[in-house]
This record gives sequence, C-alpha cells and structure tokens, in this order.
Amino acid sequence: MPFAALGLSPRTISPLARLGYETPTDVQAQTIPAALQGRDVLARAQTGTGKTAAFGLPMIERLAAVAHGQSIAPRGLVLVPTRELALQVKEALFELAQGTRLRVMTMVGGEPIMPQVRTLRRGVDIVVATPGRLIDHLDRKTIDLRTIEIVTLDEADRMLDMGFLPPLKRVMSLVPASRQTLLLSATLSKEIIAAARAFTKDPVRIDVAPEHVVASTVVHRVFAVPQEHKRDL
Ligand code: AMP
Repeated sequence: MPFAALGLSPRTISPLARLGYETPTDVQAQTIPAALQGRDVLARAQTGTGKTAAFGLPMIERLAAVAHGQSIAPRGLVLVPTRELALQVKEALFELAQGTRLRVMTMVGGEPIMPQVRTLRRGVDIVVATPGRLIDHLDRKTIDLRTIEIVTLDEADRMLDMGFLPPLKRVMSLVPASRQTLLLSATLSKEIIAAARAFTKDPVRIDVAPEHVVASTVVHRVFAVPQEHKRDL
C-alpha cells in the first residue's frame, strides 16, 4: 500500500522517497488514517516500528494544511521522556517536514534556556519537549499552550516510569480541550490506560507491537564510551 492511500497529500509524501520510505509500516498504516480523520489515538508501538513517522506525518499534514511557517505560537507539541529522544524526534520531524515550511524546535534540559526563548520568539510550529523543561518555560511564561492543536505523548510508559505524570497533567490542562491527542507507548499497562482515559477522547486503539521485548528490526550492541562522547558516537 502506498503512502498516498493513507490520505496524505503529495506535499507531505514528497520527502519520503529520499528517506527510503517506500511503503508504510504497520503502525503507520493504522495510525495515519485515524489521525488524519482527527481522531485521538492510543497506540502500542515500540522503537523501530516507524512510530515517529506514524505520529509525525499526520501532525505535519494537519499543521501544513493551513498557513504555516508564519504563526508565532506553536501549534504542535510532542512530549518525550528524554533529551536524547527529543533530539532524535526533532531530527526526524525536520526531515519529514521538508515539503513544508514548518519549523521544529527542541525544548530540553541540560542546555541554556535563553536560546530556546529566542527561538520561540522568532516563531515555531512544532515543539518537541521533555516535561521538565516545558514546565520551566510555563513557569517563566515564555510559552503559551493555548494555540496547540495537536499533542503527541511519545514513549508515554517511560514518561510515567520517570515520574512525569504530574507535569504531564499540568501540561494537558493548559492545552485546549479541543486539541487532538496521539499517545504512543511500548506497553499498555493499567497506568497508561488511566493516562489515556485522562488525556484522550474516545481514542482509536492500535496494537502492532510483537510479543518480543525488542522489535525485530532493532539490533542491540554495547559500546563503552566516555560520557562526553556519548552523543557523537
Ligand atoms: P522509529 O520506530 O520511529 O524509531 O523508526 C525506526 C526507523 O525506521 C527509523 O530509522 C526510520 O527512519 C525508519 N522508518 C520509519 N518508517 C519507515 C518506512 N515506512 N519505511 C522505511 N523505513 C522507515
């Protein structure tokens, strides 16, 4: 099945061939049509299944459909558990948004806050944030979430494991009730189901994860490396 059959426009599909995406993965084939209809989604999907494009492409499609690259306030929000994942997701969204003028930024701890404030002031469409740093910006009133139209909670189970439920509750109380919410998690525990009940409305449930702990497309290797070389490696 080609990507066009999922309801994505040619503009959104245009960068995919260069990225080597010929056909949608399972989670993409199931998530994208539901999300394009405006439905909330609760998906069980692991790293390596193509989950980033599964939530990224419908987000890009929705935000690029109206005047974009012009608004000052962000309209898309992606929450992830760690700084490393935020950087990876931002990179992926940047590549996937090549057919549009959408601007993507990361809002993560471990780096100075002022450059993030300046990027926000210049205007941005999608913010990829870790909960802690987003709360810092909310406390400083440097971000306003009232313009957010679509939220993704990626690796929601890890966010809960890391104790981020209170900040997530605060963030989700500040985005408009009318927003669309996509929640992705490697596991669907009782806690995740409860969070989904609180944060999503009548979500389409998608379950593509195989029974193994790790997706079959992922190979694990261990590299011993000093902390300061970790990201470069
Ligand atoms: P993710 O699960 O989002 O971390 O994606 C895992 C890897 O699969 C990434 O390297 C993606 O670039 C790649 N990928 C995602 N979707 C597709 C697709 N439809 N075809 C080929 N590769 C893909």
